[in-house]
Amino acid sequence: MSPTAVTAPMRKYRGRFAPSPSGPLHFGSLVAAVGSYLDAKANQGDWLVRIEDIDTTRVVKNADSDILNTLHAYALHWDEPVVYQTQRLPLYQDITHSLLKQKLVYGCTCTRKQIKAIGGIYQGHCQALNHNTQSGALRLVQQHPTTQFNDLIQGDITVNSALSHEDYLIKRSDGLFAYQLVVVVDDIDQGINRIVRGADLIEPTARQISLFKQLDSPVPEFAHLPLAVAKPGFKLSKQNYAPAISKQNPKPALISAFEFLGLPVITDLIDLNIEQLIAWGIKNFSLKQVPQVSEIQISQHPRSQKVQFTHLSK
Ligand code: GLU
Ligand code: ZN
Repeated sequence: MSPTAVTAPMRKYRGRFAPSPSGPLHFGSLVAAVGSYLDAKANQGDWLVRIEDIDTTRVVKNADSDILNTLHAYALHWDEPVVYQTQRLPLYQDITHSLLKQKLVYGCTCTRKQIKAIGGIYQGHCQALNHNTQSGALRLVQQHPTTQFNDLIQGDITVNSALSHEDYLIKRSDGLFAYQLVVVVDDIDQGINRIVRGADLIEPTARQISLFKQLDSPVPEFAHLPLAVAKPGFKLSKQNYAPAISKQNPKPALISAFEFLGLPVITDLIDLNIEQLIAWGIKNFSLKQVPQVSEIQISQHPRSQKVQFTHLSK
């Protein structure tokens, strides 16, 4: 190396998979787990698992341990102890408190119905009304509206400008911290610098970027994987009862996830064991090969039962 060369210290890649424990993993969530894992490991990074149980109204008993057992069965091994949002309430409380002290947060008593009646975008109605902030909903004054960002898979993204200017909720009227707040606070606290997840989260990303800025934290890179859908616009989800993936026989679903992610799958992969399959995935994965579409429709060939993929929309 020449003596004049400046080598900037490289921060180690830290990625994560952040499932909500509202049911078992299905093929769509497996794609997010495998995509985030392979990208982290292909870049010599750490891969963390965070159980996003902040919305306790959606938590299903034992879904967390079922998800973790499934990740083990697919040889997706995390590098640090699993974090649960419900065990981190003091952290969210502290951040909220410091935003309150800066007068960047206000209480809001508007109902969803009232906001819908004015077109669905909140217009700051309660900002000057000095509502109680001890209980009830809290909104953050939007000081860093973000309408554009670059996504490593989907390219340049522009989101609805009115939405990105909105003072969004950081605490819900039922007293629960909002996903928008805690996901960013957690990513900052855990030092996450690349987020690989499903394309259903493209829209909220702009708000999340504005919160990273509000909290004076470096904005991570984002890569949104195509979303697995049953038909256009309908994601496979726990809500529409997408079947749980098998823990006993993980190879077929794992190989299908590889194919979905654009890996050059060859027929004799089925002879490898699950750890060897993952090692093959790490060696062959590249974000550049991931289809640059927002949705991929999953169907089964009627005779062979082989899973087929149809790329939809850009
Ligand atoms: N917990 C969210 C979900 O399961 C994912 C959040 C994220 O990856 O940022 O949809
Ligand atoms: Zn209000």
